[in-house]
Amino acid sequence: MSSIPSVFSQKVQKAAREIEPSLQRANGEAIGTIPDAEAYIWARLTTLGIYQDEGSYDILMSSDCSEGDARRVFCENGEPNLPVARFKRMWSILKGEARQEAETLGVGEALDKALKANRPIGQWTDEDLLKAYSPDCNPEVIENLDKRAKERSFIVFSNEEAHEVDSAATVDLLRMIRRGKPTPVHYPVNGTLRKLYRAGDFPNSTMLECPLHPGTLLVNGYCDQCGQTWDVSDYERLQLARIIRDRDEGPETPAAIKEFIAAMTKGDLAKIGETYPKAMVEYNERKTEEDLPRLKVRQAARGVSDPMNPSLHRRF
Ligand SMILES: [Zn+2]
Repeated sequence: MSSIPSVFSQKVQKAAREIEPSLQRANGEAIGTIPDAEAYIWARLTTLGIYQDEGSYDILMSSDCSEGDARRVFCENGEPNLPVARFKRMWSILKGEARQEAETLGVGEALDKALKANRPIGQWTDEDLLKAYSPDCNPEVIENLDKRAKERSFIVFSNEEAHEVDSAATVDLLRMIRRGKPTPVHYPVNGTLRKLYRAGDFPNSTMLECPLHPGTLLVNGYCDQCGQTWDVSDYERLQLARIIRDRDEGPETPAAIKEFIAAMTKGDLAKIGETYPKAMVEYNERKTEEDLPRLKVRQAARGVSDPMNPSLHRRF
C-alpha cells in the first residue's frame, strides 16, 4: 500500500479540530465509541472506500467523491452523526484546493510572496513601479506611474545617463501631487537642482532623423529609406547633409546615396565645400545664426506604438 500524503493527514487533523465539539456531549463525554475526532473521520472515510493512502487521496480530491455521498456517511450513518454545518466545514477542508492547503499548512508566507510577484502592475507600490521603471520596461509600468502623477513631471534621476531613479525624492514628489500641491520644474536634492521628468520621458532619449529623409528615424544610424547606416557621431555634418538635401542637391540613386553618406560623414569638409559650394555657404551662415536644421527628435515613450511614425514625436 502506498504511503499517505502528508497533506492528507494534515487536512484530517485540521478538519478534526472543527468537528471535535460535535462528538462530545456538553459535559465533555464522548458520543459513541470512537475515541477522537481524527479517528472518527478516518473511520467514516473508510466507509466511503477512502483509506490512508495516496490512491485514496486522489479519489477524495476527484469529482467521484461527492459531498452528497459523504454527507450520508457522516450525518446519517448512526451516532455520532455530525450536525450539517460542522460536516460542511470539515468537508470543505478535506476537499480544499492546493492553495487553501498551503495557507492551512503554514507555508502561507511563501505563497503570499508568489502571489505578490504575480499581482497586477496596477496594484504595485510606487517604490516597486519605480524599481521596474526603465526605457525598456513594461508599458503598463509607465502608464501607471503617469496616471498616479496625474500626467505631471515628477521623476528625479540620481544618475541621468544610467537612467537611475532617485526613489526617495520621486516618491516625495508623487506624495505632493496626491495632496494636490503644485510641483516645480526642478527639485532640490542634496543642494543640487534636478530636472523632473514625466513618466515615459528619459534624459537623452533622443533619436535622429535621416538627413535625406525627414520623418524617418535612424535606428543605430540605420535609415530604412536609404538602406544605409549613417555615422551619427558628428551632428553638424548631418545638419549639413540636410541642407544639401533641402536645396535639392542631394543624391537620388542607391549608389549615389552610399557614396554621399561616406563623403558627408567621413570626408574632408573642404572637399565637400568644393562639391556643394552654395550649400556650404548656407551652412556657415546658419551656423553663425544658430539656425541649423534640427534632426533631433525626442522619443515619447508613452503610448508610442510605432517608433518610426514621426507624428508621434516632437522635434526640438
Ligand atoms: Zn535616409
